[in-house]
Amino acid sequence: MTVVSLGVPSVHRPVGPAPADGPLVDTFGRVATDLRVSLTDLCNLRCTYCMPAEGLDWMPSDQKLHAGELMRLLRLAVTRLGITSVRFTGGEPLVVPHLEELVAATAALRPRPEITLTTNGVGLARRAATLREAGLDRINVSLDTVDAARFAAITRRDRLDDVLAGLRAAKDAGLHPVKVNAVLDPVSGRADAVELLRFCLEHGYQLRIIEQMPLDAGHSWQRDRVLDAAEILTALRRHFTLQPDPQPRGSAPAQLWQVVEGTRVLGRVGIIASVSQAFCASCDRSRLTADGQVRNCLFARDETDLRALLRSGADDAALEAAWRQAMWSKAAGHGINDPDFVQPTRPMSAIGG
Ligand code: SAM
Ligand code: SF4
Repeated sequence: MTVVSLGVPSVHRPVGPAPADGPLVDTFGRVATDLRVSLTDLCNLRCTYCMPAEGLDWMPSDQKLHAGELMRLLRLAVTRLGITSVRFTGGEPLVVPHLEELVAATAALRPRPEITLTTNGVGLARRAATLREAGLDRINVSLDTVDAARFAAITRRDRLDDVLAGLRAAKDAGLHPVKVNAVLDPVSGRADAVELLRFCLEHGYQLRIIEQMPLDAGHSWQRDRVLDAAEILTALRRHFTLQPDPQPRGSAPAQLWQVVEGTRVLGRVGIIASVSQAFCASCDRSRLTADGQVRNCLFARDETDLRALLRSGADDAALEAAWRQAMWSKAAGHGINDPDFVQPTRPMSAIGG
């Protein structure tokens, strides 16, 4: 794989036609095998770093892909584009009533992709077992603090107990390892991280802390308010002994640390330094929004409208070519740290994290 220098400007440059077959590749030689599928922009929480308190102008339902349209694109992704892993996300994917059917239909594709879910965990207690039965392989549950008052302040909803019940249900359903995703509050985040790690070690969940990115709907993100990976590590090291995990990282975004006590490994914690140590050079992702747009990056400024193609009667070859061209033009890096960085218009909840 070509290694590109980090932080290179994400300027648009002319690209020729994408290869007509083979893996889903870009001009830097990166291959996309991991597809993030946003099922809806709706959500039952209002996390401050993601959505405004009053919600957003939701996508009209006729603009969202129907289940049949989505499954056609997923079949194409798996059979023609080399996608091996599908992650359902949103918005909140658990607000989609037919999520189990989508998981089952995805599990029936050949070659069968790995199927994962990113959820806020509200309502998961009722559905973890049925999702597992439908074919879900793994789950990431977002939880930024185990303190009820801080949870309510961050998510603007008093639902901590639901999320904790959802985590237990996921573990009982055998969705192993259950991962907990945390975005830290700039003020309480150090204390939250320590308590979260204690909680995750106690219950056998794997904590992954994500640096906050400029994807909030209010565009109020400030670089100097982000708790970065170095600060998070310092805070954790006051309470835990951490050593680098010996497993090779590959294209995984999280840098993994073992939490040790003497010679015993108590568990692992991952830190995703999307802002301070971008990992764009090894990115293997493609994204599909709930309204059928392919995005080649979370921070892409351009999208490719597969829904319009689908609805105009395009055949699989035309859809495949459009998807390949969308990925071919992927920029070298997200450019967050460039002086001319411009935040994408779509917020995280409408892209799919
Ligand atoms: N609602 C689900 C959830 O929260 O897990 C799925 C969608 S959410 C957009 C996916 C992930 O993106 C969550 O782990 C969330 O914490 C993360 N996220 C949202 N806004 C973010 C931001 N501005 N920076 C970093 N991560 C963010
Ligand atoms: Fe909803 Fe997830 Fe955004 Fe929170 S991060 S508001 S749970 S979409």
